[in-house]
Amino acid sequence: MRVGLGRDVHRLVAGGRLILGGVVVSENLSPVAHSDGDCLLHALMDAILGAAALPNVGVLFPCDGEENRGRDSCEMLGTVLAMVWKLGFRLVNVDAVIQLEAPPVSSFFPAMRERLSPLLGLEGSAVGLKATTAEGLGPIGRGEALEVLCVCLLEGGKS
Ligand SMILES: [Zn+2]
Repeated sequence: MRVGLGRDVHRLVAGGRLILGGVVVSENLSPVAHSDGDCLLHALMDAILGAAALPNVGVLFPCDGEENRGRDSCEMLGTVLAMVWKLGFRLVNVDAVIQLEAPPVSSFFPAMRERLSPLLGLEGSAVGLKATTAEGLGPIGRGEALEVLCVCLLEGGKS
């Protein structure tokens, strides 16, 4: 068994749209990002990569890479999963905490699970999603940023 931890932060600006877990959660707020800025998927990918001791998202998909501009994070996740599956690992579960002052996102969890479960090869019951605010404290509390923390468990792996 291997545990992995991922964390991602993006600044937020007015306008545009915010995608989390492959689902649009706001049409008047957007992350400052080179890719599509899906903070949940970035943290999730780093957790999976970390569990397999592989390089992180920023190394695999550099933000100066033209091919990564506006890139769909769900497609990047497919690349990451192919890497760990090739090493013989199987994903057991994932669990994430979204820290975002507004808008509330928990109503989007069913849609996120529906989007992510087949990609991850997991039952919905193995995709943990939680959301919390920062109680008005710091940059997240002021709505200037969002942060996602994620852990995952891998089993197997070629010895
Ligand atoms: Zn990111």
